[in-house]
Amino acid sequence: MTVQAQYADPAQALQDLKAAGSKNRRDGLSAEELMDSITQGGLTYNDFLILPGYIGFQAHAVQLESRITKRITLKTPFLSSPMDTVTETDMAIAMALLGGLGIIHHNCTPEQQADMVRKVKMFENGFITDPVCLAESHTVADVLAIKDRFGFCGIPITENGKLGSKLVGIVTARDIQFVSDHSTPLKACMTTDLVIAHEGVTLEEANRILCESKKGKLPVVNNNGELCSLLARSDLLKNQNYPLASKAPKSKQLLCGAAIGTRPDDRDRLGLLVAAGLDVVVLDSSQGNSSFQIEMVKWIKDTYPDIDVIAGNVVVWEQAARLIAAGADGLRVGMGSGSICITQEVMACGRPQGTAVFKVAQFAAKYGVPIIADGGIGNIGHITKALALGASGVMMGGLLAGTTESPGEYFYLDGQRLKKYRGMGSLDAMEMAGDSGNGSTKRYYSESDSVKVAQGVSGSVVDKGSIKKFVPYLYTGLQHSLQDIGIDSIDALKEGMREGTVRFERRTAAAQAEGGVHSLHSYTKRLFS
Ligand code: IMP
Repeated sequence: MTVQAQYADPAQALQDLKAAGSKNRRDGLSAEELMDSITQGGLTYNDFLILPGYIGFQAHAVQLESRITKRITLKTPFLSSPMDTVTETDMAIAMALLGGLGIIHHNCTPEQQADMVRKVKMFENGFITDPVCLAESHTVADVLAIKDRFGFCGIPITENGKLGSKLVGIVTARDIQFVSDHSTPLKACMTTDLVIAHEGVTLEEANRILCESKKGKLPVVNNNGELCSLLARSDLLKNQNYPLASKAPKSKQLLCGAAIGTRPDDRDRLGLLVAAGLDVVVLDSSQGNSSFQIEMVKWIKDTYPDIDVIAGNVVVWEQAARLIAAGADGLRVGMGSGSICITQEVMACGRPQGTAVFKVAQFAAKYGVPIIADGGIGNIGHITKALALGASGVMMGGLLAGTTESPGEYFYLDGQRLKKYRGMGSLDAMEMAGDSGNGSTKRYYSESDSVKVAQGVSGSVVDKGSIKKFVPYLYTGLQHSLQDIGIDSIDALKEGMREGTVRFERRTAAAQAEGGVHSLHSYTKRLFS
């Protein structure tokens, strides 16, 4: 005889779902419960998962816009670390073009750092409002020197060699290609047959004139024939290819960040960076809760009110409080989580990154100060988790090292193509700072120290190709990840976390093993194509 089971009506499932709207009846844990679930010790990214939600939209509709400082919103939450094997000019340009932000390191002279910032700001976009100009009396050698420094040689020639003076010609690579005597004055080789646009022309119209002219550059002049700005053909293509680019709203120049320390001479360094067009400064310290940093934040806010300051690093809210009160526009969170970092081992100080991000973000949100999760980001899942715990941006070192745009040359070891990646607190980096007299890795030591104590290691990472492919992979992967959680934007993710509708679950060691590739004889891990 069969016994008829007494099942509930399937339509009741939706009623159950509605009733579960109240968070304490839902599956999994809220972020707060997750953190409380471990009463002693902290959690990091691999210790938990986020439970899936309802997918009612396409992955490409997921918005990844995020406010990374009080005043700066980016189209992607990605930042590159201020490390000398990660961010110099090429990385900063590529990061900004792809919708993120590069923070140029300071393990170099102030002049070198300012030069890198200037190159990023001059790179493109739309109208170049401070083009490099020369006069007729300058020589071919002057053009070649500019080419060496900035990478271009299409230069407008004005009466006094400056912007705002009467335009008399233009020099391009073709004009000087076969001039063997580099002392030849530009008057003898410049092009005077010019196609120009007039001040007030729209970017769209100027682009059209440039396209039709078949010239490389379009000078824009006022009614007196004086040079106001310049448009470059190479920028046309870049504009078209990078719809997410992080640009200053007025100048259309790419956004650029740079790191400095908190010593008195860092004030002069910052002066040069600001003159080069800097948008945001990062105060680079492994323990940011110091009188030096607090004074520095206040001084910058007084002296350069238009520059946003990201202070840090911090991992507990007590550290964050003083920096927020001093006027920080953003906070960098992480101590000891970096892939090259031995801080926790040597200093016995730090915090697991998941807990650090959650605790500081929870506190800083009250004051509208965004936080950036810095260090320990090893894959897209870590990015999602950092954002889900309240971060507004993620700063990456190791993940972006070994790319075409990271500084340094590739080399081969055991048949693998590698690039160097080192901690700024490694002896390698500190000794270089000492040798060059720059000492920017003062983040990790004081000049009065007789022994340098390493907080980082020096190693290598495999070639990852260009970030122009890698960052879009992170972007698309992150969209899919948020789609699985049933969330259509970073803002909604953070709101869902605060309201307890985004649900989390702890991961045992066995669950972690199950979540990775297992039980295979061998496999190849290709991440994107
Ligand atoms: P990664 O993305 O995990 O490789 O970590 C990069 C982050 O590690 C940087 O943004 C810094 O905050 C931090 N960092 C850089 N150099 C050192 C070091 O030598 N010791 C400790 N932390 C470092």
